Amino acid sequence: MKFLLFADDAKSLSGLATRFREDGEVQAVTVESEIEQCQNYGIKKLYGLKGKAFADNVSLAISGMDLQSYDLIVISSSPLGREVAGILSGKLNFPCMTEVFEISFSGGKMITKRFFFGGKTIMQEESSSKIITVTPGSFDSSPGDNTAEKETIDLGDSRVSLLEVKPKEKSSTNIENASIIVSVGRGIGKKESIESIMPLVEATHGELAGSRPVCLDYKWLSEERQVGLSGKKVKPKVYIALGISGQIQHIAGMRGAKIVIAVNKDKDAPIFQECDYGIVGDLFQVVPKLVESLRK
Ligand SMILES: Cc1cc2nc3c(=O)[nH]c(=O)nc-3n(C[C@H](O)[C@H](O)[C@H](O)COP(=O)(O)OP(=O)(O)OC[C@H]3O[C@@H](n4cnc5c(N)ncnc54)[C@H](O)[C@@H]3O)c2cc1C
Repeated sequence: MKFLLFADDAKSLSGLATRFREDGEVQAVTVESEIEQCQNYGIKKLYGLKGKAFADNVSLAISGMDLQSYDLIVISSSPLGREVAGILSGKLNFPCMTEVFEISFSGGKMITKRFFFGGKTIMQEESSSKIITVTPGSFDSSPGDNTAEKETIDLGDSRVSLLEVKPKEKSSTNIENASIIVSVGRGIGKKESIESIMPLVEATHGELAGSRPVCLDYKWLSEERQVGLSGKKVKPKVYIALGISGQIQHIAGMRGAKIVIAVNKDKDAPIFQECDYGIVGDLFQVVPKLVESLRK
């Protein structure tokens, strides 16, 4: 098979290349600044987009390529990637399947998996879509050969003009690389109480993370620390869930954890179906005891 990949960041592109080179020839498009970091992932031909990348000029540049010669166009589901996929699908009349996180090919058929019903279930489908978008973080990257032939494509003018850039508030960490995560949910009650969790974060040498209400709705932690379907997908050795109920959309982000420890005062909380060690109790009483034993 022959694949054309598009991602506007090197991490996503190298993950996609690692996955799709298993099944055939991989060619890829990315923005010029990411090219150097994408070279040794078994990509046969690497196109670098030169100029300011917006959805309209990127999709125009990609649609100018010989797209019929590819069996599948795979686009990383970044904000730019999602727009590009939609434009290409409409413009070229190619069906598009979105937010795929697992894919296999068997007997000429493509089988995909993606979340459905707001993340409550996983749908496995056989599909003939010509374009798919892939949830970032779905595939790990590992180096392949570094023989990528490079070509630059000049991006033409865009109808979009950039008026102002407001940087997002960044946390000082990337929880996706953490080996121990202490994650807090709505059960923490209020922002000030997060301070009482820090001794556990320090004693475990872990990173602090949270559920969507904590990071997005109440903004007690930065969005960069949100774990889940619409947050980060994490794969730590140990994931400690404090006051998190364990809804499927949260579980979707921490399924890769090796050991899950949950503390919840509700013995029927769904998180207890997902953990290796469960403690039924008030987190404000349990956490100091955990810290005490860790310090011993
Ligand atoms: C499309 C979509 C995407 C979503 N994406 C995400 C996502 O990326 N990440 C995410 O997390 N959610 C996501 N959600 C939201 C998700 O459905 C849940 O609403 C959310 O995960 C609940 O967060 P929580 O467990 O912190 O809060 P709650 O469900 O309110 O649970 C709080 C828990 O704390 C326990 N508790 C309370 N006090 C204490 C105490 N003192 N000690 C111990 N336990 C206590 C309670 O028993 C309860 O189980 C998404 C939803 C949708 C529809």
